[in-house]
Amino acid sequence: MGSITLKQVTKSFGDVNVIKPLDLQIRDGEFIVFVGPSGCGKSTLLRMIAGLEDTTSGTIEIGGQDATHMPPAKRGLAMVFQSYALYPHMSVRNNIAFPLKRAKVEPEVIEEKITTAAKMLNLTDYLDRKPGQLSGGQRQRVAIGRAIVRQPSAFLFDEPLSNLDASLRVNMRLEISELHKSLNTTMIYVTHDQVEAMTMADRIAVFNGGVIEQVGTPLELYQKPVNRFVAGFIGSPK
Ligand code: ADP
Ligand code: MG
Repeated sequence: MGSITLKQVTKSFGDVNVIKPLDLQIRDGEFIVFVGPSGCGKSTLLRMIAGLEDTTSGTIEIGGQDATHMPPAKRGLAMVFQSYALYPHMSVRNNIAFPLKRAKVEPEVIEEKITTAAKMLNLTDYLDRKPGQLSGGQRQRVAIGRAIVRQPSAFLFDEPLSNLDASLRVNMRLEISELHKSLNTTMIYVTHDQVEAMTMADRIAVFNGGVIEQVGTPLELYQKPVNRFVAGFIGSPK
């Protein structure tokens, strides 16, 4: 269900070719990290998978279905942004409930899902607060909660922890990894942080200038980097 296949996918903004023909197969349930320097196309590709950005050429399959031109709401994916994108005037409860209310889910079902997500994310005591009354880590948990209740076939994270301070980042990393274990859902996680990539990923795709230089497990990339760029980026000895 949560498999995602990219075939010869490209993206241009005007004359500028930001994603070069790119092939990638993401397995159902996999935790894959897109890593690479700023400006190399990670967010653009993630937004293309989410349907927030159209694809110049090539195809995107989600769960075996051609989704290249599918509207975002039909793709069954949930995106979590660095900026949280919470509604400041709504309580935590209503922020989490928002996508469900819009989808006209029954109120009792919504309540049940909120309770479960809040337990999972340690937000039970904060449901009536507004985002402005929460810490950065709690806000990011709310954003994740809003994604969880939709039961997406895959989660797309775009540098979700880069606004948090270092110690909190380490905690949240562990929490997201735990969440992946308990939900067993595909996660694509974008970061420019090598440590995050190495500690969280089943596989890492190393991006550079709109191409993927190498895809592999953290150990494979560390032990057998295909070139100096990968070696330099991952910090391995080549
Ligand atoms: P990353 O997330 O890896 O830092 P991005 O995907 O945000 O990189 O950006 C890749 C390249 O595409 C950058 O050169 C950026 O300036 C360009 N880009 C991104 N979005 C747009 C846009 N809407 N219009 C024009 N250029 C864009
Ligand atoms: Mg980015």
